[in-house]
Amino acid sequence: MSHLFNTYARYPFDLVSGHDVHLVDNSGKEYLDFTSGIGVCSFGYHDPEITGAVEKQLTQIWHTSNLYESQLQETVGGMLAGDDKLAFFCNSGTEANEAAFKLARKASGKTRVLAFNNGFHGRSYGSMSLTGNPSIQAGFAPLVPDVIFADYNDPEALDKIDADLAAVILEVIQGEGGVYVGDKAWLQAVQAKCKEAGALLIIDEVQSGIGRTGYKFAYEAFDLDPDIVTMAKALGSGLPIGAMIGKKALGSAFTPGSHGTTFGGNKIALSAAQAVLSKLTPEFLASVQQKSANVWTTMTDTLAPLPAVSGITGMGLMIGIHLDEQLDVEAIIKQLQAKGLLTLSAKHNTLRLLPPLVMSDADLQAGLALIAEVLKEA
Ligand SMILES: *Cc1c(COP(=O)(O)O)cnc(C)c1O
Repeated sequence: MSHLFNTYARYPFDLVSGHDVHLVDNSGKEYLDFTSGIGVCSFGYHDPEITGAVEKQLTQIWHTSNLYESQLQETVGGMLAGDDKLAFFCNSGTEANEAAFKLARKASGKTRVLAFNNGFHGRSYGSMSLTGNPSIQAGFAPLVPDVIFADYNDPEALDKIDADLAAVILEVIQGEGGVYVGDKAWLQAVQAKCKEAGALLIIDEVQSGIGRTGYKFAYEAFDLDPDIVTMAKALGSGLPIGAMIGKKALGSAFTPGSHGTTFGGNKIALSAAQAVLSKLTPEFLASVQQKSANVWTTMTDTLAPLPAVSGITGMGLMIGIHLDEQLDVEAIIKQLQAKGLLTLSAKHNTLRLLPPLVMSDADLQAGLALIAEVLKEA
């Protein structure tokens, strides 16, 4: 008998410990991890610097509220926002998008927001209303009004960007939707149209950010300059933290009392984020790009030609292996679990891979070999 609301179809084992990029379940079985939580534990399990930073903070102070100055928030805010943006800290990706939605309406004085079909921005009323997935919205109407949708990568979406629009929100790589990468020219056209129409561009980097693609933020690879960026997942290496950063010109829209959170910006989560961000050096990002290049070469050579695979999409270490419609991705995930590899799914029968960014080439290749083995038999 479970004491929990049945909001997840859970696999029948409990991951009770972890070391580097491996996890151990309650029966003692060990797994190679191609999930990082869901894109959270990018530095694996028990990175000594991140653990050390959190342990040090645990002995100092955990929480004070946001009623006092916070040097830690200033420091991490500076690491994320630089000199031309401002940061707001919260506890999740959902909350970061909620803050972005509120800021966009308040700063623009307009209400309409354009979001994209197959996108994902969270589960609260605001962020769910921006999520272009009818199955996530089903049963919860009425949603937040004046959100409109268009097809991702569709030139006709540009026609919906006009002077009545407060903002456009999008992922440059749709994660939950199936790891679909935005077309660079299209994304740039969306941005140009936003500028022309006076609409804000919000980029949701909750899954694609913090090094996942070999860039600090994936939008850098598309030469974009968003007004607002949201992030969470990997930012705290497993401690709950989200952030919204926005251009300084938007700063006057939020004044004391406009928006807030009890736990957002708490010192434990912030100490983890500071350690994570200080590890995200140009050398580290280059190593992620190098590893990714090897992974993509192997996938192109050994996975893409298999009849079980209809396509492979993604960027860096954010990967979607699209399975033939005859196959069931959940059955494949279970077979991989039996062989000691943890993987994820995404919409459209996609086997999604989000391995820790610190995984060695040898472990990455070993995991891909297991996937090839299972997909060949499938
Ligand atoms: C996971 C995710 C969210 C929601 O983040 P939570 O921390 O689960 O609230 C929002 N946007 C994207 C792109 C995500 O992948």
